[in-house]
Amino acid sequence: MQAASLDQFRAQFRGQIIQPNDADYDSARKVYNAMIDKRPRLIAKCADVADVIYAVNFGRENGLLTAIRGGGHNGAGLGICDEGLVIDLSRMKGVRVDPTARTVQVAGGCVWGDVDHATHAFGKATPCGFISTTGVAGLTLGGGIGYLTRKYGLTIDNLLEVEMVLADGRFVAAGPKKNPDLFWAVRGGGGNFGVVTSFLFRLHPVKMVYAGPTFWPLDQAADVMRAYREFIVNAPEDVNGFFAFLVVPPVPMFPEHLHNKTMCGIVWCCTGREAKAAKALKPMRTFGKPAFDHVGMMPFPILQSLFDGLYPPGLQWYWRADFVKELSDEAIALHVKHGAALPTMHSTTHLYPIDGAPARIGKTETPFTHRDAKWAQVIVGVDPDPANKDKITKWCKEYFDALHPYSTGGAYVNFMMEEGQERIQATYGENYGRLAEIKKKYDPSNFFRVNQNIRPAA
Ligand SMILES: Cc1cc2nc3c(=O)[nH]c(=O)nc-3n(C[C@H](O)[C@H](O)[C@H](O)COP(=O)(O)OP(=O)(O)OC[C@H]3O[C@@H](n4cnc5c(N)ncnc54)[C@H](O)[C@@H]3O)c2cc1C
Repeated sequence: MQAASLDQFRAQFRGQIIQPNDADYDSARKVYNAMIDKRPRLIAKCADVADVIYAVNFGRENGLLTAIRGGGHNGAGLGICDEGLVIDLSRMKGVRVDPTARTVQVAGGCVWGDVDHATHAFGKATPCGFISTTGVAGLTLGGGIGYLTRKYGLTIDNLLEVEMVLADGRFVAAGPKKNPDLFWAVRGGGGNFGVVTSFLFRLHPVKMVYAGPTFWPLDQAADVMRAYREFIVNAPEDVNGFFAFLVVPPVPMFPEHLHNKTMCGIVWCCTGREAKAAKALKPMRTFGKPAFDHVGMMPFPILQSLFDGLYPPGLQWYWRADFVKELSDEAIALHVKHGAALPTMHSTTHLYPIDGAPARIGKTETPFTHRDAKWAQVIVGVDPDPANKDKITKWCKEYFDALHPYSTGGAYVNFMMEEGQERIQATYGENYGRLAEIKKKYDPSNFFRVNQNIRPAA
């Protein structure tokens, strides 16, 4: 990296360039997962699209390993790198709702809370995730699974257009009619194809939802899981409910006698009318003997931020995932065994339903190929104390190894650690070859490789 080249970069750049000697270097290099401790040479906090173009050109011309940071939430820490350059979009906020067209335009540095805030005022939402602090960019580019998935599809199924800066510094739009190959690739192919500076999403009429948790004691877990596997795939698509093993947090929302108890539960989110939702949920909410049931109408952004306080940035985080087509009795028995042994209060297992609307999109229509799976399963070891890093990792890996034979073989890219090429290829399945060809066209030198990497075709 030439000093003159850095001086020129600084002169062009409107945002902030942070180096290891700067006072805010340590806070700027922190990502959500405190297990990740990387030290880039430069962090370029972009103010606008021009800054992104300058940063991409600077990184490429100086041969720097270059990471792209949106919300910084990636479990594997793929929004940052050692030694190289980080193109950080966190200052690039801005959400514009078009109520007539029923769309929302979102700048590349937004988190989902920014979007919910803006769209809720119009009584609308686009499918996002289960927590409001996740970056729009990373979540969308990997697929996007959340409370509205069964009803309205994955986040990518609601993506209408992107604007992005390519590896050669060109700024382009991609949509069904503009660079359609690129548009196909970004709907699941992650940050492999360029820096997305803006997203355009379709909006749906979602304002209030019928939502909240139902918990059961562990001795009912196998029965509850068996009932849930039948219930959810036959429920109307207005009904969403993810299954969890969890430790009840010691907070006033929950009765004291349940605090710190390991339980199983379902977290509900229903769109549509309250009476209809209550009727649809009744068979599951009254199944067995629930220990806690707290479901009612609430604004969608409240549901979206319900877990923000429980999972602040700075926790140790290790997770493993799979897609699941069916929950056999054997798989359920293994879930109960490992789920009952959650190693810490924050650790958890979630089974997110992805049947319904996502299954109506073909396996090759987007890179997200596991359209026939019923659940995205994620096993999450979490704790504030770095001393527990090995304990949560060991539990997570053992649990994953036990359940992996019952999966489809690939995983949701956004729930993966750095697990190697074989896993990435299993994840994209028959779409991998087409992704590699598009990568060759738009990023032949694999400049954008700090990600779940798709290698350019030979
Ligand atoms: C607490 C928590 C909750 C989560 N909940 C959900 C959920 O409900 N549903 C769900 O689907 N996922 C969820 N995830 C997973 C999440 O989607 C991924 O971790 C995702 O990578 C985060 O995106 P980000 O922008 O915050 O991450 P970053 O760490 O900033 O980036 C992640 C990846 O995206 C790429 N990237 C980021 N910004 C851009 C951009 N502008 N252009 C091109 N590439 C870019 C980066 O290169 C990197 O490879 C959750 C993660 C956590 C930690």
